[in-house]
Amino acid sequence: AKPLVAIVGRPNVGKSTLFNRLVGGQVAIVEDIPGVTRDRLYRDSEWRGYEFTLVDTGGITEGPGGLEAAVRRQAEQAVNEADVVLFLVDAREGLTANDLAVAEILRRSGRPVILVANKVENFTDLSSLADFYQLGLGDPLPISAAHGMNVGDLLDRVVELL
Ligand code: GDP
Ligand code: MG
Repeated sequence: AKPLVAIVGRPNVGKSTLFNRLVGGQVAIVEDIPGVTRDRLYRDSEWRGYEFTLVDTGGITEGPGGLEAAVRRQAEQAVNEADVVLFLVDAREGLTANDLAVAEILRRSGRPVILVANKVENFTDLSSLADFYQLGLGDPLPISAAHGMNVGDLLDRVVELL
């Protein structure tokens, strides 16, 4: 099997938008309402000759324990199966308690994690980046999944970790 690269993060950060951009087609459902993507999606992708399977972890539905518990379950499932985790945060929303909860799970797992700050399209969007250092996962890589900005740099880092 090909190495698995999972995209995790709370609802509405742009996981499905990034997934679609990386697999080169409109396959995952992008929703303006947080948390509506029901299914986990797996698609094969390739960059510079390296092949991997990308996972859109989506599927966060509020069960017992509310949203934070659901996000935790998603992160735990992802680290159990993934070789590399893309942890997506929203530069426009800034750091949230949910992000901190997910980061703790990811750090404990010892899996390679790339911290990705999405929705960075101008200088104002960059201003929240410093807060994300609190996640303890190093430099956030700013991207815009919607516009494709810095996505090549992200893929370069992904394949270094495969
Ligand atoms: P998910 O819940 O994490 O899968 O998030 P989605 O991919 O469904 O995106 C949630 C919302 O954020 C949608 O309205 C997207 O159009 C928007 N979005 C996603 N990526 C970007 C981005 O790079 N820039 C901006 N401005 N909006 C984005
Ligand atoms: Mg989604």
